[in-house]
Amino acid sequence: MVETIRTVKVKLDVPNGRCNDLHQTKDQFLHCANTTAAWAWRHPNEYCVTSKQEAEKALYERLRDETALTANLVQKGIRRAIEATKSGVARLKKGENTRQPHFDAWSVVYDKRSATFHRDHVSLSTINGRVECPYVIPDDPKDTPIGEYLLNEDYEFRMSTLQYDRSTEAFYLHARMRRTERDEHEQSTAVSSDAKHRTVLGVDLNVDGSLAVTSTGAFIGNADEMNHRRREFEKTRGSMQQAGTRSAHLSIQSMNDREHRWMKDELHYASNQILEEARDHGCTHVAFENLTDIRERMAGVKRFHAWAFRRLYEYVEYKAEMLGIEVEQVSPAYTSQRCSKCGFTHETNRRSKHQFVCQKCEYELNADYNASKNIARKLLNRLHSRQTSSDGGAPCQCALTSGTLNLNGEFIASVRSTAEGESTDKPTTSVVGH
Ligand SMILES: [Zn+2]
Repeated sequence: MVETIRTVKVKLDVPNGRCNDLHQTKDQFLHCANTTAAWAWRHPNEYCVTSKQEAEKALYERLRDETALTANLVQKGIRRAIEATKSGVARLKKGENTRQPHFDAWSVVYDKRSATFHRDHVSLSTINGRVECPYVIPDDPKDTPIGEYLLNEDYEFRMSTLQYDRSTEAFYLHARMRRTERDEHEQSTAVSSDAKHRTVLGVDLNVDGSLAVTSTGAFIGNADEMNHRRREFEKTRGSMQQAGTRSAHLSIQSMNDREHRWMKDELHYASNQILEEARDHGCTHVAFENLTDIRERMAGVKRFHAWAFRRLYEYVEYKAEMLGIEVEQVSPAYTSQRCSKCGFTHETNRRSKHQFVCQKCEYELNADYNASKNIARKLLNRLHSRQTSSDGGAPCQCALTSGTLNLNGEFIASVRSTAEGESTDKPTTSVVGH
């Protein structure tokens, strides 16, 4: 692969009244970076922390609470500080003088998770929702970097930074543009490049039974246990509130913390299991159903379920990035009514809450497992339709327990299932809480 990267500076036409949202986003972003730098920089008493994972584990929750930033911007702030800490440590090793990194320059890091880049505008996430900013494009952009790279469909947007020029009071996007081409040798030998081979893991989320069920048949987390814990906490909280004393009030606070910690530990654990499953099956993508308005849409979803689903999604998303796995949401329509084998879609396909029986082909399986396969397929279809015809049709597959399914529905048995000697689509119960 030949890779060309160019940075293009383009002025943004920020809508009236939204400039302050960008300034505040910058302040909170720098807060994340500076808090992380102060935490990670331990020279000369201890080794400095240069692991992103360790920093995220220690600071992510706290910074999410302290700021109104999206999960992705918090994460970018943490990473920026860890990168700077790493360079500082490298300088120390060379015997150079340096100190704790500090961030005060006007700069916010955006990638495609926190921004949507278009050829004529960018949509940026801020502390106050998204801001749509048109680019200020010169009358004759030809032969300028804007014309050559920004407007050129051969280049794709990569991680970019938002900056502000105090003297002109203007915002600029420093867009990093990347073009990749195969060289001649690769073109003649490559049959199917691994980079283009997509395998999707579908994840179905539930308010009872297993918290998450994957299209590989892993049953992850225990939603029943979560509900039980939640009810117990609420009961005790109720009786304490009746006592109404100050000490009772304090115990309620500490119990909220304990409950919160327990839930977060469970969700971290579940997110790790999902990613392990994705990695074991060589998945390039993980698909969740869209979580917007889930309380209105899905029966029995309480506020804490919606919170837990969102957190789980965020954990999976930020951990996936380190593994180079993409996480996307798909529309949940009919994922529970469609037969994942023959495609027949009907509401009577469900025998009970957790049992699916196809009225057409009589395929019978766990209902959540069936839904997770449909979720995987939806993303697969989307990835497939995104491919341009010049792409030559990269292979797309859903990860299933006993092999993979390509878009034509052809079944390809995997080595793993043969070794297990399992019959086709029975889910294997890998994890149920602990
Ligand atoms: Zn069927």
